[in-house]
Amino acid sequence: MDDWIDLRSDTVTRPTAAMRAAMLAAAVGDDVYGDDPTVNALQARLADELGFEAGLFLPSGTQSNLVALMAHCARGDEYLVGMDAHTYKYEGGGAAVLGSIQPQPIPQADDGTLPLDAVERAIKPDDPHFARTRLLCLENTWHGRPLPPDYLAQARALCDRRGLALHLDGARLYNAAVAGGVDARAITRHFDSVSVCLSKGLGAPVGSVLVGSRALVGVARRWRKVLGGGMRQAGILAAAGLHALDHHVARLADDHARAARLAAALRGLPRIAAVAQHTNMVFVEVPRERLPHLRAAMEARRVRLALGESPQLRLVLHLDVDDAGVQRVAEGFAALAA
Ligand SMILES: *Cc1c(COP(=O)(O)O)cnc(C)c1O
Repeated sequence: MDDWIDLRSDTVTRPTAAMRAAMLAAAVGDDVYGDDPTVNALQARLADELGFEAGLFLPSGTQSNLVALMAHCARGDEYLVGMDAHTYKYEGGGAAVLGSIQPQPIPQADDGTLPLDAVERAIKPDDPHFARTRLLCLENTWHGRPLPPDYLAQARALCDRRGLALHLDGARLYNAAVAGGVDARAITRHFDSVSVCLSKGLGAPVGSVLVGSRALVGVARRWRKVLGGGMRQAGILAAAGLHALDHHVARLADDHARAARLAAALRGLPRIAAVAQHTNMVFVEVPRERLPHLRAAMEARRVRLALGESPQLRLVLHLDVDDAGVQRVAEGFAALAA
C-alpha cells in the first residue's frame, strides 16, 4: 500500500523513521502511577506551550473531549455546542451517554462560529425545569476553517459575563495557528481547557493531550481512568507526540500550500464545481453520475479518497503526501473532466 496516496483524512499518516527512533529510545514508566517521564514531559510541554497549569495524555481526541466535558459538567448540566461539531455529532453522543450531560446544539454559521446571540438565547435560567448551562464548546479548525480571532475574544467575554466555562476541541489547533501566522497561545488563551490531537496533521500514531487548570486536569485524570484510558508505559506513544511537536508543526504550512495548489488545479477543470480550500482540506463537488468514473480514475493512479454516494468530497493533505502526490491527484480529477 506504500505507493498509494490516501486523502481520506490526516489520521492516515504513518510514523516517520525519525519518529519511530524517538519512540524506541523513549524512557518509560507506569503512567497510572504518574511514573512515565516521557508522558510527564509531553503533558508539561504542551501545558506550558499553550499557557495552562497542567496536561493529560489520552488515547484519543474523543476521550480527551469527553473527560474535559465530564470535568466541567456534572450530571444534569448542559453544554452548548455546534450542531455539526465533532464532540456533538461524531463522538457517539458520549457526553450524554456516559457523562449525563445534556448537549444543547446550536447551528454553526458558515465560518464555524456559533452566533453569540444564539448562544446567549440558549443559556437556561436557574430553574428546576432546565438543565444547568455550564459550558460552551468550540472547534478550531472547523472543517479546516480557523475561527476568526476576534470571535474567540467575544466568546470569552460572553462566557465571563454569563458564568460559563469555555472548552476548545483543538484537534487541529496547530493548523489554525500556522495558517493564522500566530503562536498557538494566541488562540488558547481564551479557553479554560483545550484538547489537541497528536494523531491528525501532526503525524503521531496515537494520542491527544488535554490542557487546563491543575484542578480541572485532576478531575479529568480520574475520568480517564474510569473510562479505561489509563495507560501504562505510554511514554513510547508520548515520545511520538514530542517528536511531532518538535518537527511537524511548522511543516503544516506545506500541507496548506499543497491544498491550495490542488484547489487551484481543480478550479481550472470543467465538470468540477464548488471548490473550496481551508488549511489542509479541499472540498469539491463532482457530478454524481461521474462518481464511478472518478473511482476508476483514482484507483488507476493509486489514490484513495473517501468516496461514497455523495458528490461532495473532502480531500485532506498531510505529512505523507508530497508535490508529486498532489500532481497525481490533480491528474485523476483531470481524467474525470476529460
Ligand atoms: C479527529 C477529531 C476528534 C477526535 O479524535 P479521535 O482521536 O479520532 O478520537 C475530535 N475533534 C475533531 C474536530 C476531530 O477532527
